[in-house]
Amino acid sequence: MENCVFCRIVSNELPSVKVYEDDDVVAFLDIAPVNKGHVLVIPKEHFETIIDIPDDVLKKLIVVVKNVSEAVKDALKSDGISIAMSNYKAAGQVIPHAHFHIIPRFHGDGLKLWSQGSYNDGEMELFGSKIRKHLSDSNDNIKNK
Ligand code: ZN
Repeated sequence: MENCVFCRIVSNELPSVKVYEDDDVVAFLDIAPVNKGHVLVIPKEHFETIIDIPDDVLKKLIVVVKNVSEAVKDALKSDGISIAMSNYKAAGQVIPHAHFHIIPRFHGDGLKLWSQGSYNDGEMELFGSKIRKHLSDSNDNIKNK
């Protein structure tokens, strides 16, 4: 897309520090890293969210996420890796071109990704049931439907 920052990085119209590239996927350093070495992994083609990405492209993407995660961990000798993805504005997605974050993590770096809540009695089964109803038949192997 013409005005998309990430599409312009893919086409080299904007500069970036790339760490990986193939026919479908690019990985480059986030210019505003949570921790230094923070990498973004994106499909070259413009898709807004994970839901929009075709399965064959998504499979390639997630394998790149895995391989770059290992490289980041080894290169930075990080204690851990956080992988995050925000989809839609309500979730904090700033650039509307789907991207995975790979964030090197260190003991005591203080980053908290989210707080945790709880369910009232019976609520968990209700939420599980609602979500299962929207999944395909390939989900039939879940026993407690
Ligand atoms: Zn784009």
